[in-house]
Formats: sequence, structure tokens, C-alpha cells
Amino acid sequence: MSLLVTCPNCGPREVHELRCAGESTRRPQARPTRRELNDYLYVRDNVWGFQREWWFCRSCEEWFLAERHTYTNEVARTWHPEPAERRA
Ligand SMILES: [Zn+2]
Repeated sequence: MSLLVTCPNCGPREVHELRCAGESTRRPQARPTRRELNDYLYVRDNVWGFQREWWFCRSCEEWFLAERHTYTNEVARTWHPEPAERRA
């Protein structure tokens, strides 16, 4: 499978030069319940459509976010996360 994903630093890269770490999740509040902590660690939305994902570039060794369609693999955009997004 060939898929190009644009690293915000390096430009378009083949998918084997990157690592997808899955959909980004919302970190629970400071003192989460056991249920909230369990959901944060193990439950994913698993959407059909565009989802926000964490990606790692092996060339520049930086993390970035991407919106990728889970069925077509179309990557709508990639960007460096804002400080608030890093905690999300
Ligand atoms: Zn890069």
C-alpha cells in the first residue's frame, strides 16, 4: 500500500517513513474516576470518516497531528499541535 502523508517539517513522506499512533483522545480531568481512566486508556471511537490521529516522523523525530479518513486513507491536513492539543 502506498500512502503519502505530509510531515509539517519534511513535506510529503511515504507511510513507511512515519508511524501512526492512532486516534487522539481526550485526557481526563486531574482526578479521574476508574471508569474515565479506563475509557481513556482502552476505549476508542473507531469512526468511519475523518479522525484526528497522532503521527511520528522517523526523519525529523517529531510528533504531529493529521486528519485522515479511516476508509479512503485521504489525509485532509497535518499540523503541529498547539500546547493545549498536546494534552488532549
Ligand atoms: Zn519529518
